[in-house]
Amino acid sequence: MLTNNLWERLSHLLDDDLQGSDLPSLLSPRRHMLLLSRRRAALIVNRVRLFALLFAVLTPLWSLVDIMVFPPELWLPLLVLRLLVSACFFLLLTCYQPTGELSQAYKALAVLFAIPTLFYISSHTLLGSYELHSMSEAVGAGYAFLPFVLMAGMTIFPLTLSENVVVVLLVLGAQALAGYLSWSVLNWPSFAGAFWLLMLIGGVGILAGMSQLAFMLALVRAAIRDPLTGVFSRGSGEEILKLKWDAAERNHSALALAFIDLDNFKALNDTYGHDAGDIALRDCADHLLHSLRSADSLVRWGGEEFLLIMPDTDMTQARQALERVMQFGLGARPEGRPLTASVGLAELRFDQVTSREALLQLADQRMYRAKQNGRNQVCAVSLAAA
Ligand code: GH3
Ligand code: MG
Ligand code: MG
Repeated sequence: MLTNNLWERLSHLLDDDLQGSDLPSLLSPRRHMLLLSRRRAALIVNRVRLFALLFAVLTPLWSLVDIMVFPPELWLPLLVLRLLVSACFFLLLTCYQPTGELSQAYKALAVLFAIPTLFYISSHTLLGSYELHSMSEAVGAGYAFLPFVLMAGMTIFPLTLSENVVVVLLVLGAQALAGYLSWSVLNWPSFAGAFWLLMLIGGVGILAGMSQLAFMLALVRAAIRDPLTGVFSRGSGEEILKLKWDAAERNHSALALAFIDLDNFKALNDTYGHDAGDIALRDCADHLLHSLRSADSLVRWGGEEFLLIMPDTDMTQARQALERVMQFGLGARPEGRPLTASVGLAELRFDQVTSREALLQLADQRMYRAKQNGRNQVCAVSLAAA
């Protein structure tokens, strides 16, 4: 009773749009579906670029403070260092345009964190060789705050737990190494206190990064799914088709499309009402999803039309897959008779088409042929070949 109550209170604290099945996505990027992964990668790269722009401008500006408190033999090399850092940030800003690849996002993140880390090491090597007093000592100690800026900076990225842990461990490891090699301008008790604070900020940063990701998961889901059936909406279906088409071209692999149009659906609506039609549509999507492989994508292309995208599937395998789908059934009409569909099947290699529009058009034409041939069937050949 108590645990139930506690769990209920805890779940109210979580994001309302978050589902139990989202948990693996919060832990590791491996379970992220393609469209989420691409949007997240693009967002990370864009935020890296925002950070790079800010630092490219602010890093040389700080030299004004250096000039006021440090002797020329110290502020001058620091200024050169800062200008170099600024140039690196500008390079980062211009070299990375988001492509949607996660590996690119990781590289951009690594460069973003590497530049200040190198600056941190070099500036401390310089500062360590000077005897600083009062004001200059205070500004010199400010240089020790850089790891905190890095650790706080990770909060703006929607990262999974595993990715966050890697970032935190890297920053902590670099800081521990700096302390071990006595790079830090802080003395030992202050260093230990600072390390402890850095760990705390890292912990809070992990929570912040993960809640950004949770928010993003909910937003992406709402944006790419059809609200009635929960399968991909037309817009995201077009994006998936483009990605799968490009991959099939690149790898010389197969790609099959099935255009599925429910039979006599208007009559169902006219007889039993629109709500009954909606229930049948939802039931049909559930049935379709049940008999598909995880690599396949089901899209609600139009009112009562679905598009099934089957990567790495040749014509023979696609026919077998559709047989399985038809055997399992598409659910029932309100009066109890089975809901049926006419399906047009086309495959990139088998049909030797040269564009995804042509592949789509072929599947659509064959669906119409299936209708003409009496509905409730799969058609995989064109008129001339029949
Ligand atoms: P055919 O076998 O030739 O495909 O006949 P059909 O009646 O299925 O074809 P038609 O294209 O004439 O009608 C499609 C119907 O699907 C029309 C519309 O009432 C219904 N429909 C489209 N979207 C929805 C929806 O979101 N909910 C419901 N309940 N019905 C929908
Ligand atoms: Mg239709
Ligand atoms: Mg129809």
